[in-house]
Amino acid sequence: MALDPLADIPIPAEIARLPKADIHIHAEWSPRLDRVLAKRQGRKPYDWRAWARWLMQTEAPGGDRLQHLSKPFPELFEADKRGDNFIARIVDIFEESAADGSILAEIRPGKDMAERPECLELIKAAAQKLRARYPRFQAAVIPFIYLQQDEDILEPLVKRYERWGKDGLIFGADLFNQPYETEADWTGAYRIADRLASAGLGITAHVAENSPVNIPAALKLPGLKRLGHATQAGYHPHLLEQVAASGVTVEVALSCNVILGAVPSYETHPIRRFVEAGVPITLCTDDPVQMSTTIGREYALAHHLGFSKADLLDFTRNALRVAFVSEDMRKGLTAELQRE
Ligand SMILES: [Zn+2]
Repeated sequence: MALDPLADIPIPAEIARLPKADIHIHAEWSPRLDRVLAKRQGRKPYDWRAWARWLMQTEAPGGDRLQHLSKPFPELFEADKRGDNFIARIVDIFEESAADGSILAEIRPGKDMAERPECLELIKAAAQKLRARYPRFQAAVIPFIYLQQDEDILEPLVKRYERWGKDGLIFGADLFNQPYETEADWTGAYRIADRLASAGLGITAHVAENSPVNIPAALKLPGLKRLGHATQAGYHPHLLEQVAASGVTVEVALSCNVILGAVPSYETHPIRRFVEAGVPITLCTDDPVQMSTTIGREYALAHHLGFSKADLLDFTRNALRVAFVSEDMRKGLTAELQRE
């Protein structure tokens, strides 16, 4: 019988203590802040499990479900303007990841990058704060760049990321091009990726979560090191071959793919096809609050699907190899992993 998409997966002690890395986590500002404020106010947070069940029963798999993601709670806009609330929700992301054995969490702030130019320092301060309790934990930030936004918003952001790249403050960026499920025009994406790559940034892109059509075009992005999802390439041998030949690493988000319907079940997820084709993969939470998952649960899910402890350590190693971090940090993290 197929595993329930929202199943509580017991995390065996030997998996719990494995060093993990999660290099695809969205900030989920509103769901995350709701969770933080609920704890502070002694109330129940929004029930994301019930929401996911409703979503799976109501909407068709794929794009229809995706449209429901990241709809903010309007009353939280004011609360989020407060710097202490911002730090609290970032600490909450890191805390959740570190508690599950993460040695690296790479987060993708969305609106924060536009509205809070000082967010980079604040996020680094949050990570520093966490290291008092989790000394081996490191954090990285990569901007999530929505390419369809207005030019007068997009251009200053890209300029800022170029500057941050040249100053060694950030090491990568995530591009989101549309249309997502039919063939998109990538001309603008290539131009921006080229500028960012010239400023020293590695590139990843959300692609082929629900449809394989954009894989060949995405593989031509300048500076491309990784792909977010790329799930549908797993069902097409010629695309799988192209992905393998390109040398990029694929960020796999099992729960997100099953709940949003990119794949029918955990058991039919093409994760093993990627591994067998020689594509390096990593395990990621993507939207952990909305998907009711954690990085520990994602590793436990992969273990449940038959991946050994050594395979899981390989996934962490793959993540560290392509993490968008400084070379010093990569060395430290790799040494941490080698201690295993
Ligand atoms: Zn994502």
